[in-house]
Amino acid sequence: MTDHQSGKGLSFAKRIYLPRIIGTGIGLFCIMPSVAPLNLPLWAWALLLLNALAWPHAAYKLATRSASPYKAEQRNLLFDGLMAGFWTGAMHFNPLPGVTLLSMTAMNNVAAGGKSLFLRGLLAQVAGMLLAATLLGPGLQLQATQLQIYACLPMLTLYPMAVGWVCYRLAIKLADHKKRLGALSRTDSLTGLLNHGAWKDLLQLRFQACKQQQAPAVLALIDIDHFKRINDTYGHVVGDWVLRQLSADLKQTLGENDLAGRYGGDEFCVILPHDSEAPASQTLERLRQRVGDYRNPRLPDLRISLSIGLASFHAGLEDPEDWLEAADRALYAAKRHGRNRVNAASGDAAGKLRLAYPE
Ligand code: GH3
Ligand code: MG
Repeated sequence: MTDHQSGKGLSFAKRIYLPRIIGTGIGLFCIMPSVAPLNLPLWAWALLLLNALAWPHAAYKLATRSASPYKAEQRNLLFDGLMAGFWTGAMHFNPLPGVTLLSMTAMNNVAAGGKSLFLRGLLAQVAGMLLAATLLGPGLQLQATQLQIYACLPMLTLYPMAVGWVCYRLAIKLADHKKRLGALSRTDSLTGLLNHGAWKDLLQLRFQACKQQQAPAVLALIDIDHFKRINDTYGHVVGDWVLRQLSADLKQTLGENDLAGRYGGDEFCVILPHDSEAPASQTLERLRQRVGDYRNPRLPDLRISLSIGLASFHAGLEDPEDWLEAADRALYAAKRHGRNRVNAASGDAAGKLRLAYPE
């Protein structure tokens, strides 16, 4: 895939378009009073107008139509440097406008391509100066008139503001992307629930909070019964749909403080903070019944049932893994006792099990 097809550099070219229009436009005011007394040939005036007014649009077209917009835009920036050097030479090195043009184009090169583009930009500027000396004749004009000084002020004030604004917008956009990527990295793509890693991080935090505050909380592991059979009978698309349906039911059944995640495959996990075992069992029993009652008119034979293992937090738990293991044992016992049930592990460390809702 080419850079153009992948869009690499395209937004870069678009971002630079407006600042270049502003830069070359106000650059014209910066250059004109310094070259006016020097009797430039007509072609040089035409070149100045083309550079100021037409070049930004040509540069944009060159970059956006290129197979590699990023490289094309770097060439455009080097051309900017070449022309800054050319006009500096053409005005016989008048210090303030010359330094203004050279430093603004150098700033662009550093911002767009770091040290490498900065150095290549310097070479382009020197080449521009030599070109001007060759075509227009050499000269040195180290005294600036007041008009020549004032004419540089728009370039010195407005252009850095325009570039600063573009950088600010870019920083906001990057912060937004970072936030969205962060959220994506914590989300299970199929169900939209927390993924395994994100949920485990929350489990760790909740475990520490429970330890410190001796607060109650319940952990639930939920597994779809004979899910492999559902996949084998109806296909994986229906299997995926069942997983999404269950996560939607989970979101609707749980309270807003409950933390639901997809542990992996057909297994889901929930932390019910501040809940003791009885209300947590009732919540998950409601979920079990809701999913069990589900009927799909297009798949009339499809039945979904859940096995759910619960474990309440208690002071004897050493770490989150202990807690998770207790819930896992409760889930395993629910499977062993015939599936389609909610099963709570008793709070003692020995992990004795009792069935909360035997069928
Ligand atoms: P049990 O009642 O003991 O839980 O049996 P089961 O068939 O549900 O358990 P098992 O662990 O054997 O099968 C889980 C299946 O879930 C196997 C795997 O192919 C399927 N699975 C895992 N992730 C996905 C997924 O993202 N989409 C679909 N459609 N299937 C998945
Ligand atoms: Mg299963």
